[in-house]
Amino acid sequence: MKSLIILTALLSISLLSCAKETPQVKHASHMDSSGKNLENIQVVNDEDPICHMKTAGSIKDTAVYKNKTYGFCSVSCKGEFKKSPERYAQK
Ligand SMILES: [Zn+2]
Repeated sequence: MKSLIILTALLSISLLSCAKETPQVKHASHMDSSGKNLENIQVVNDEDPICHMKTAGSIKDTAVYKNKTYGFCSVSCKGEFKKSPERYAQK
């Protein structure tokens, strides 16, 4: 009877660790897809036009608009820029 309890405990532990692994794997593949080295890229904006965060060293994505490269802290900020670039682009 005691061994059955241990077996059940071991089984639930391995199930738990399996459940934990799934998002980690997803996260890792997401990191790979955005693993471009953008740290030394030249952008025209000192700060993210969407959230006004400094872009230096924290650029996660870029967009080119009217031959200017803009840096963004995240893909969602870039998406916001792409919706209406004329509103955020530098004059
Ligand atoms: Zn941002």
